[in-house]
Amino acid sequence: MRTVTVVGASLAGLYAARELRAQGFDGRLVVVGEEPHAPYDRPPLSKGFLTGGAGEETLALGDAEETDELAAEWLLGVRARGLDVRGRTVLLDDGRTVPTDGVVIATGARARRLPGAVPAGVHTLRTLEEARDLRGALTAGPCHVVVIGGGFIGAETASSCAALGHDVTVVEAAPLPLAGHLGERLAAACAALHDRGGVRLLTGTGVRELHGRRASVTPAAGHRGRDTVAAVELSDGRVLPADVVVVGIGAVPNTEWLAGSDLAVDDGVLCDDGCVTRLPQVVAVGDVARAGGVRSEHWTSATQQPAVAVRNLLAGATVDTTRPVPYFWSDQYGTRIQFAGRRGDGDTVRITDGALDEDGFLAVFERAGRTTAALAVGRSRPFTRVRRELLSAQRGLAPV
Ligand SMILES: Cc1cc2nc3c(=O)[nH]c(=O)nc-3n(C[C@H](O)[C@H](O)[C@H](O)COP(=O)(O)OP(=O)(O)OC[C@H]3O[C@@H](n4cnc5c(N)ncnc54)[C@H](O)[C@@H]3O)c2cc1C
Repeated sequence: MRTVTVVGASLAGLYAARELRAQGFDGRLVVVGEEPHAPYDRPPLSKGFLTGGAGEETLALGDAEETDELAAEWLLGVRARGLDVRGRTVLLDDGRTVPTDGVVIATGARARRLPGAVPAGVHTLRTLEEARDLRGALTAGPCHVVVIGGGFIGAETASSCAALGHDVTVVEAAPLPLAGHLGERLAAACAALHDRGGVRLLTGTGVRELHGRRASVTPAAGHRGRDTVAAVELSDGRVLPADVVVVGIGAVPNTEWLAGSDLAVDDGVLCDDGCVTRLPQVVAVGDVARAGGVRSEHWTSATQQPAVAVRNLLAGATVDTTRPVPYFWSDQYGTRIQFAGRRGDGDTVRITDGALDEDGFLAVFERAGRTTAALAVGRSRPFTRVRRELLSAQRGLAPV
């Protein structure tokens, strides 16, 4: 393989580039990224970056020395618009083409938006630009913030907005946020963090309409600017005043550019559990990959999959598979939430540390006498031990 092109210059793309060099690939390495930035870390965007504790300079995932060592050609600020598998070419939006022998798809996901036009003051949070916009809107003094969606990004954003002194309401369409991930009992314990953080959580109601107020008239241009959001009307009729609205209703994998490529796409790029697509010279990693039937949107998967994907890419076949123990963390209201493992609906839940109504707990999910997963709220130390046991069990080793 003489040329490998990594499409997507973020977390999974960077890790793939690192792995290619670490595993001995010494050919031409091209990294294509739609964003103009060198790879940066997204988790702080809803946490320290939003509250002002973490500046932009802290977000970088690599440094100049590493960039030199990778000896890659970075084509940043340009989108890949197609993959011609027969012609072994990646097509770029600006008309350039990159002839290539192997491809790593690492195009991640983007924030899902509300349908139709929205007034100014309605934000999503996925990219640095979006985070800058939201941070700017939050610095104009105390205001009413409505967060639509009570998932992890919504909850973290609500927590950060509350820390900045804003009046915050989270609107969640389901009866309870995160119940699908954590089960009802533990999801309720996590939802209680909003209340303790001084944030209102309204559940079981969707959003009917966003109301705007007239923006100032621009006589020279002869037209009125976009309305600015003023209120959120819920499907149950309630109307919430809103100066800033944050839409946190999930993410959509960036797969459109693969149309016509012969790759199978269904809510992500379909690949086997070695991250290999139906074409051995194309692998997929990170948020965009549906590996072995699962699309994971977590930092740790995006950093773990590339080692296996690259091994298989360089071998030209699936010689290795990844069955990581899923793991994610979330920081809300000064508390770290951590989850590891694979929970099943019939699993029993045992609280092994703290209590659900205390300031923290460790919950262990069990099935047939075996631990399947663990959730910690403010209990990092015992959680790490259980996570290690899960990893050992996965590898078929005795727990250490
Ligand atoms: C605000 C926020 C907070 C988070 N917090 C946590 C957390 O606390 N814990 C946790 O486990 N995970 C968290 N995550 C998730 C984690 O950041 C993601 O799992 C991770 O970023 C996935 O990396 P990726 O490289 O697969 O995708 P992405 O980070 O989405 O990167 C994909 C890159 O590909 C580019 N791209 C897309 N299409 C094209 C194209 N056609 N051509 C070229 N380039 C393209 C995109 O512009 C982007 O730069 C958070 C995510 C966000 C947004």
